[in-house]
Amino acid sequence: MAPSAAGDGALERIVIENCAIATVDADDTEYASGHVVVAGNRIESVGAGRAPEGLGGVVRRIDGTGHLATPGLVNTHHHFYQWITRGLATDHNLFNWLVALYPTWARIDEPMVRAAAQGSLAMMARGGVTTAMDHHYVYPRGSGDLSGAVIAAAREMGVRFTLARGSMDRGTSDGGLPPDFAVESLEGALAGTEETIDKHHDASFDAMTQVAVAPCSPFSVSTELMRQGAELARRKGVRLHTHGSETVEEEEFCKELFGMGPTDYFESTGWLGSDVWMAHCVHMNDSDIAAFARTGTGVAHCPSSNARLAAGIARVPDMLKAGVPVGLGVDGTASNESGELHTELRNALLINRLGAHREAALNARQALRLGTYGGAQVLGRTGQIGSLEPGKLADLVLWKLDTLAHSSIADPVVALVLGAAAPVSLSLVDGKPVVEAGHLTTVDEDAIARSTRDEAQRLARIAAQG
Ligand SMILES: [Zn+2]
Repeated sequence: MAPSAAGDGALERIVIENCAIATVDADDTEYASGHVVVAGNRIESVGAGRAPEGLGGVVRRIDGTGHLATPGLVNTHHHFYQWITRGLATDHNLFNWLVALYPTWARIDEPMVRAAAQGSLAMMARGGVTTAMDHHYVYPRGSGDLSGAVIAAAREMGVRFTLARGSMDRGTSDGGLPPDFAVESLEGALAGTEETIDKHHDASFDAMTQVAVAPCSPFSVSTELMRQGAELARRKGVRLHTHGSETVEEEEFCKELFGMGPTDYFESTGWLGSDVWMAHCVHMNDSDIAAFARTGTGVAHCPSSNARLAAGIARVPDMLKAGVPVGLGVDGTASNESGELHTELRNALLINRLGAHREAALNARQALRLGTYGGAQVLGRTGQIGSLEPGKLADLVLWKLDTLAHSSIADPVVALVLGAAAPVSLSLVDGKPVVEAGHLTTVDEDAIARSTRDEAQRLARIAAQG
């Protein structure tokens, strides 16, 4: 339930005033100078001008002059473990890149995954991400509690989090792409996923941790795991996530192995629906887009990764026009070394303008919506996050736009999206600060930099031994 209104002395309030505000609500309401009042872990009020007089329990009053307040950014696709295999196989397409990296990835262990998760989370949180997700699908035998390590890292950072518990069970001997030693059994993958849901999924309004069922991709997962994974998710009432229609090669693979394209294959295995979101969806024809729209299947658009792996340009304007929910994703940092989401607002806009719709493809406000409300849509959390509205969770960012980088741009949303990566003066998650004046408050960034370097070197040594 939302907290009661002004006068409830037990609630601690944070008042932010004098900032521009882009609420990203249904009407795209904006204020040139307005206020946000946070009460406990909820947004209590948003509006023009100063905050209401006489509020009780105000523990902090912030002058937001020179800033833009937006909803916190929502990342909808990532692979945290890749933080320690960045900068490798830099001139490859997806399949060649995967084949080059699988042998190294198959050597990961719990301390490596913990460090990599901290690195990935820190980089995103510093840039205004308040809801993160990790699609983790590499579970080598005897490697420890990798899901637990990732979830612990997110809790420590203080960001809202969805773990998409991934899996692979189609090794090369079954016609798949990953080597046999990198995959789980069908039974092992399903049992591990169910255990993760039972242990960690929180279905409450305020949930900080949620779990989704997430077999990796058609070319690394058996049809049975796709089918039974979908059944498991629906039995447990959790969401479904996978990679889809990323490359031309994947389309050819599906046609050869299943006699149909990826979207038809997903439909035949129970993988289209309003509880499903898929990463990439680059190679979609009109009927694929119509099928996503008809079923409410969501898309995690990852423009930098698609460019890095020469995958192509997803048809985001056509998806939006058809009514497909679209969020943004960093994707794993082995295919997007920057690891930032706020720069993906700009990249989404620019890359889509290179596509068929040219200058009409996306505008700055649509790009901001993809990174906030669109993300909440694909994660199934629009009632709680994704816009600044009374009653929603207090996940918000104050972007500093009064320095050299942005101060001569009059429109703050345009400055945020098209300008340089804007510094974050404050990021609140669940009403608590995660970033203050550009620095993470919950963790030691330099310590994470050291541990991720050490673990990356340890992984490289182990992988080199074969
Ligand atoms: Zn991915």
